[in-house]
Amino acid sequence: MADRPRFGPAGVPLAFRAMKAVLADVPRLLKEEGLDAFEYQAVRWGAKPQIKREKAEELGLKAEKHDVWLSLHGSYFINLCGKREIVEASKNRLIACAMAAEWMKAHVVVFHPGFYGKRQQQEVFKDCLEAIREVVDTMKTLGIENVKLGPETMGKLSQFGSLNEILTLCEHVEQTQPVIDWAHLHARCRGCFKTVEDFRKIVEEIEGRLGTDVVKDMHCHFTKVEFADKGERRHHRIDETGYGPDFRMFAKVIAEFKLRPVIISESPVTDVDAIRMRDILQKEF
Ligand SMILES: [Zn+2]
Repeated sequence: MADRPRFGPAGVPLAFRAMKAVLADVPRLLKEEGLDAFEYQAVRWGAKPQIKREKAEELGLKAEKHDVWLSLHGSYFINLCGKREIVEASKNRLIACAMAAEWMKAHVVVFHPGFYGKRQQQEVFKDCLEAIREVVDTMKTLGIENVKLGPETMGKLSQFGSLNEILTLCEHVEQTQPVIDWAHLHARCRGCFKTVEDFRKIVEEIEGRLGTDVVKDMHCHFTKVEFADKGERRHHRIDETGYGPDFRMFAKVIAEFKLRPVIISESPVTDVDAIRMRDILQKEF
């Protein structure tokens, strides 16, 4: 469980890449910036982990040393709502991600559950639930016990992943936790986060359905987002005006409920915006 609100980037920040940092340097560099979380990007992975076990373990050790909370963003090539062959391949991809997460001692594998396609939402939900159950069973067989699966709220209306769907999945399958992508929620409802109360309602709903511990330890993505009729279009920097959601409102709710979320920035300037959000939250305490 995260011990305090933590902030970090999705993937290796551009500035670190520019200085030719290797993966094992990332935790130290984040600590130097005053950040304490990192979401490793496994977003292009196939059926096998695309990191060597030693490298993953080294990242885990460095993260522990520098007090950086690790998560892993799973493959984009996952669709647990599609045809049978697609679902089978997706399950293997998700298991590969969970295996690497276990090596790193990452806490959660964030993933996008899939697409509705032309099917009814109810029917899709049942299949998705079943597939996630099977993945969790396989993880147990493989001895992956410390990693949770984190289905993410999604920003396009064609994607499985409304708040209700994600919370219902987590109510039904053990070893899961909801990943709340606030930008996606905001895009999905075409800009509904306008007041502090709009954030509070979501926090209260998660608490009511999954309990106080789950809401306090929320894993989130927070970034400003541009959207159109069908939902999410692209992410924006926090200093760009004209886009939401507004982190200052969420910061008030974090303080009010004494949450200790892990907040991952997926903005075009990942670490820079993580630092900005950290500073905004500090003002609330
Ligand atoms: Zn995502």
